[in-house]
Amino acid sequence: MAETEKCVLLVPSLVEISSVLKSKLQKNFAEVSVTVIECPDLSQAPFDFPVKGLCGKPRIADVGGVPYLVPVPRLHKVYNVNTVTKNIDLPGAYILGAGATSHRSLGINAELIFSVQAECTSASAVNKSYVASVSPTDGSCLLEKYRDKSNDNDFGLLSNLYACEGKSGKVIEVNVKQRIGQDNFVSCMRKSLHEYYGEKVVGMGGTFLIKEGKAKLHIMPREFSACPLNTDEDVNQWLKFYEMNAPLICQSVFVSHDPGYDLRLEHTHCFSHHGEGGHYHCDTTPDTIEYVGYFHPAEFLYRIDKPSFN
Ligand SMILES: [Zn+2]
Repeated sequence: MAETEKCVLLVPSLVEISSVLKSKLQKNFAEVSVTVIECPDLSQAPFDFPVKGLCGKPRIADVGGVPYLVPVPRLHKVYNVNTVTKNIDLPGAYILGAGATSHRSLGINAELIFSVQAECTSASAVNKSYVASVSPTDGSCLLEKYRDKSNDNDFGLLSNLYACEGKSGKVIEVNVKQRIGQDNFVSCMRKSLHEYYGEKVVGMGGTFLIKEGKAKLHIMPREFSACPLNTDEDVNQWLKFYEMNAPLICQSVFVSHDPGYDLRLEHTHCFSHHGEGGHYHCDTTPDTIEYVGYFHPAEFLYRIDKPSFN
């Protein structure tokens, strides 16, 4: 089993986090509303999660890492959702987030958009994750349901996950319109937490809708690069970038500060019901963009199989 490290996160009240987020979001968006509400039923459209809410023993898992993807892929780095929920002391958890597929499962490299309830003693896993890959016919985005591709619950290389019992409860609703600053939605929230809490670590997970406008997303090619990808420029040349349309449903995990675990501080993957999805970078229509999201702080952070080489 991959090595797992664990730390306790700072868990401020939802009201306090709301005010912290609001202060910085107001510098980046023209209209901002941040409130504590009862989580909407996420089993309903457009979310269609296998659970109702984001509450109950919330925790974050950062699994693997970019060094397993570049400069050369480590295809033996395969993980399993059911195993991860046991590693994080929450077997049967609901998991959302952003990561990579297992090449062993799908025979291709692709973006994985997690929405899966792991197996428990009385029920098998309910996997409603999506796979976004580059279409082999025309290079466009190909978004497919994970269950249409594989019966397993594996993933590969790296993933950033928020796990909870999937219960209803209080969450933070963030609604913003019209971007007037440079930060994307998630970076703005992450930076606001870092500015306020400094080296105390706050981790958040949740889901948001890009309700109006368009966004820049990338998808990793199906085939790994024949040459090692040694620089950011190499990676950006290899990735395929797209402008995608609302409505996009985005699964997001972010952490305010890295206390030394080699964390990815934010990672967001999106799916839709119109065939588009991938890795979120930013919106491309600042004047018309509208986001609404539901977020909850995590109590623990688990670092699983941290790469130990450079
Ligand atoms: Zn990604």
